[in-house]
Amino acid sequence: MREILHIQGGQCGNQIGAKFWEVVCTEHGIDSTGRYQGDTDLQLERVNVYYNEASCGRFVPRAVLMDLEPGTMDSVRSGPFGQIFRPDNFVFGQSGAGNNWAKGHYTEGAELIDSVLDVVRKEAENCDCLQGFQVCHSLGGGTGSGMGTLLISKIREEYPDRMMLTFSVFPSPKVSDTVVEPYNATLSVHQLVENADECMVLDNEALYDICFRTLKLTTPSFGDLNHLISATMSGVTCCLRFPGQLNSDLRKLAVNLIPFPRLHFFMVGFAPLTSRGSQQYRALTVPELTQQMWDSKNMMCAADPRHGRYLTASAVFRGKMSTKEVDEQMINVQNKNSSYFVEWIPNNVKSTVCDIPPTGLKMASTFIGNSTSIQEMFRRVSEQFTAMFRRKAFLHWYTGEGMDEMEFTEAESNMNDLVAEYQQYQDATADEEYEDDEEYQEEEA
Ligand code: GDP
Repeated sequence: MREILHIQGGQCGNQIGAKFWEVVCTEHGIDSTGRYQGDTDLQLERVNVYYNEASCGRFVPRAVLMDLEPGTMDSVRSGPFGQIFRPDNFVFGQSGAGNNWAKGHYTEGAELIDSVLDVVRKEAENCDCLQGFQVCHSLGGGTGSGMGTLLISKIREEYPDRMMLTFSVFPSPKVSDTVVEPYNATLSVHQLVENADECMVLDNEALYDICFRTLKLTTPSFGDLNHLISATMSGVTCCLRFPGQLNSDLRKLAVNLIPFPRLHFFMVGFAPLTSRGSQQYRALTVPELTQQMWDSKNMMCAADPRHGRYLTASAVFRGKMSTKEVDEQMINVQNKNSSYFVEWIPNNVKSTVCDIPPTGLKMASTFIGNSTSIQEMFRRVSEQFTAMFRRKAFLHWYTGEGMDEMEFTEAESNMNDLVAEYQQYQDATADEEYEDDEEYQEEEA
């Protein structure tokens, strides 16, 4: 058994986390009381990765829910699968974080963090062999962002050899609540670069664009964005939850996708895109799924892969289909677009088929790419950060919680360095690397 411990924090984290569990429970045939009502053994074969089995035979999500105010967690508790969670695993305060990263990371959040760690420890002790953690949070607010990254660093300290995966929602002015979100996001990225192993980027800017342009929703709600997010999260975790070879645990996923440790921010694509409650009239073919999955319009991150190059990528096709056809189609994409894949990592695209489709679809596919074009999103946030920071606008909210301006400067340069590193590998050619090697050998000689 290789268990994963799930943690969700803040408003966004709790909302997307709740949807994740609804979708995953349904896929594994588990009803809202934790009873198994499914129809195939495949649903139970690896159910222990995400669920504890209680003595009464019920399945309980291995999930910890945290927030600095009770509201969102109250709605999760009274929502469709609210009763499935272990009541002791709800940890919350009353103060709120007021969209202030410093309150989440240094003051209010720091006060609550030990109670969260107690619950985390208890769950971890119950595991046979914990593989790692997954954290759901937004980066634009105060709790998921500030307290979420505090928790990540505490977990790293206590469990240095376990994997840390995040589902991180990046802010966009198109869906924004407040102007300081670029500050909160940049301070968080600074933490995620150092303390997370793999980050699935969920960019509200892209999610909004998909809802508006592709799904024709004129005023997309969080519910609409979260529908896309839960489909994506289900796809990304499919290989961890069902039997199979490719990316079957968090470490294998990391080994396949991360050639350089800091470059662990992934673009995720999904096909077919559907809106909430809509019916799919026609099952797509494998070539159609493949074509859509690679399309920038299907990426949950506002960056165009054609403006960069893929270091690595993985794809999961779900449903009944021919593995041979999937392989052919994937090879086809790479051959036709070879300049978009770095040639110095041969065989950098992997794909697999999982028999079980997502609920409500006959077939679907999920794409996880490590593309240098993701720098476009970091640049966007960085520009918004710098515009305000240059004038020190809104800084008193953070220094008032005891933060030093220096931490802003460091966060800003760390993110700019990240952008530069992506650019460096985007420009790198096989020859160049080879020349470096030769120089090195001459020195040695
Ligand atoms: P926290 O409770 O202090 O962690 O703050 P929030 O989670 O409300 O963080 C605000 C950021 O999260 C903003 O960028 C919001 O646009 C975004 N956000 C809040 N709720 C949701 C949600 O349910 N879905 C999505 N996609 N984004 C959300």
